Amino acid sequence: MIGVLLLNACDQGRQEDRSPEPTAQTEAPAPEEAEVEVEAEDALAEEETPPPPPEVDTPEEAVDTSARVAILGYHRFSESAKISKRHLPTTIHVEKFRAQMQALKDNEIPVIPMSDFLAWRRGEKHLPPFSVIITIDDGYRSIYEQAFPVLKEFEFPFTLYLYTNYLEGGGKTMTHAEVLEMVAAGAEIGSHSVSHQDMRNRGRRSAEKHAAFLKEETAGSRRILKERLGVEPATFAYPYGAYDDEAMEAVKDAGYEAAFTIRGQKVDWETALFEAGRYIVHGGIDQPFDLAVSSKIPSGAVGATNLLKETITDEATGEEKPLIQVSPAYGSVVKDRRPEMRVDLSGIEGLDPDSLSMEISGVGSVEAVFDPETKVYAYRTQQRLRMPEYWVQVSFKRSGKRQQETVRWKFQLDLVGLYLDLAKAELSTQRADESNEDEDLVAQPSSQESE
Ligand SMILES: [Zn+2]
Repeated sequence: MIGVLLLNACDQGRQEDRSPEPTAQTEAPAPEEAEVEVEAEDALAEEETPPPPPEVDTPEEAVDTSARVAILGYHRFSESAKISKRHLPTTIHVEKFRAQMQALKDNEIPVIPMSDFLAWRRGEKHLPPFSVIITIDDGYRSIYEQAFPVLKEFEFPFTLYLYTNYLEGGGKTMTHAEVLEMVAAGAEIGSHSVSHQDMRNRGRRSAEKHAAFLKEETAGSRRILKERLGVEPATFAYPYGAYDDEAMEAVKDAGYEAAFTIRGQKVDWETALFEAGRYIVHGGIDQPFDLAVSSKIPSGAVGATNLLKETITDEATGEEKPLIQVSPAYGSVVKDRRPEMRVDLSGIEGLDPDSLSMEISGVGSVEAVFDPETKVYAYRTQQRLRMPEYWVQVSFKRSGKRQQETVRWKFQLDLVGLYLDLAKAELSTQRADESNEDEDLVAQPSSQESE
């Protein structure tokens, strides 16, 4: 029995790879591009039209429907020095997982529980403009042994998608006690079916038998999880991300509030709740995680050393000072909508100026200019910045070294302060215009009419 269960568990990662559902890395770029455009349009709209009047018939304050959420999907974790071909693609080294969690923390990306997302969609709770949800599928013991300690350390909430045939199955499966320990620490439970089969696959079942099968996989797993763990799962994750209309109806009928696929797309106010996307994180490929958080963290930045944290001793004063100084300062709030992005690289020995490049979030690669005398590398944006937050990343090499090094920082734009200033300025111009008009009218009442 155990052998069979293990075989199932091992197979499923490979099947997930063969799954006809598009995975994050094949599917994601198109929606990602679309999102960038939408963001820009949103910012424009915000700037040029006054905010809509509050809804009259809503008793409570309406939630911000522009929030977006990236849902990460993990499977297995390993401490092996090297993740080999022996491992499934969905196995991630625990240190890489830790680096991803660290990146979420360092970049102040809120990690929210699934229940907050559901409450938001019901209009009951606010969400930050961008947040992340962590989900982990199947129920491998490495979740308890390796991921759980990291998640506890960061105090990040997470949701486990369990399939009941695998739970408490011995071998590499988790026990009820282990799951309950995580539930006590705040983990939420979702259903991942009873038997982890492709729910579109009818086999030789009659229509009636297939409907009964779907009912057992959805309502049955919900009942079993309630019986065994005392918690009623609110959401469902399709095995292999695979579903059809009938499977979706079965999930709805079983009383779930939402169901998740493995399509790498962010979820928002408009997302169809029974086919919501998740970014499945693979151990060997950084792209799905990078895409999920691309609006906040530059690609390739997770786990890389950021030179901004390094210091050197000032030769004149003997005091410790930052190796690199940047402007706008890290985390600062600026009003200038065309700020100069500059980095002083005079502390970098053997800098190869030809290797320099600069990238700005939402803008892309830019033609920054290097001053060989001051060793300052700088760029002023051509268009005015519109988003509330930006990151800048500067990469370079030292002569004779192959390794690329990076400096990256973020800053915020004080859009609200800016709008207030603009409004004040406009108001005073209006007043000036009005008084000028009065004067004109008094002085030359007829000449204006004749023109
Ligand atoms: Zn699965």
